[in-house]
Amino acid sequence: MTDHLDLREEMIAICLRMNASGLNTGAAGNLSVRVEGGLLITPSGVAYDKMRPEQIVEMDWEGRYYGDFVPSSEWRFHYDILKARPDVDAVLHSHAINCSILACCRLDIPPVHYMIGVSGGDVVKCSAYAPFGTAELSVEALSALEDRMACLLGNHGVIALGKTPAKAFAVLEEVENLARVYIGTRMLGGGVILGKEEMDVVLERFKSYGKQAGEAVDATVKNRVEPPPHGGPKRL
Ligand SMILES: [Zn+2]
Repeated sequence: MTDHLDLREEMIAICLRMNASGLNTGAAGNLSVRVEGGLLITPSGVAYDKMRPEQIVEMDWEGRYYGDFVPSSEWRFHYDILKARPDVDAVLHSHAINCSILACCRLDIPPVHYMIGVSGGDVVKCSAYAPFGTAELSVEALSALEDRMACLLGNHGVIALGKTPAKAFAVLEEVENLARVYIGTRMLGGGVILGKEEMDVVLERFKSYGKQAGEAVDATVKNRVEPPPHGGPKRL
């Protein structure tokens, strides 16, 4: 009997989707999710297409792992981020190519496209370099992630956060797209970077973005994304 079977299956599905979407290569990348009393994290050295739910590793908040499989070599930043950021429950890391190119140039992603708002601010910061798997890397990652849902890791890759694995995946997908746009604009001599006032409006609007029908939008949010007037039940 394996605890959190549905969640473990979802974690494997997200990892497979990450590779199939070109957002990661091979065995690089890893995913963790908060559960009661600790976290679940993808194991070290198991290919995603061979990964079984029971191989996902459970860790407690004392930093111990349980079972026969060793957690990902990047367990430390997953553990440290989930511990330091109660506002998120999933941490997704990959070596997405465009994010990695910028990370190897140690470049932040500026607000060249308004969708940078999904990262929680007007810039996706690139952290200083630290060797993989070290406590030093956790410190650098947490600093670059301050008030943000994503960061680049210097000479390494990208981290995306979310309330669920699917939401962290959506952030990763968008940040990789932003990285590709930013690289393209630099190749054409540089894009027009949005200013603070323009980004303040975007960040306000993101507070009411992606809502489903019937989901409440905080009435105090200025610059709300408003649907058109509702005309009643579905017409035949
Ligand atoms: Zn990595």
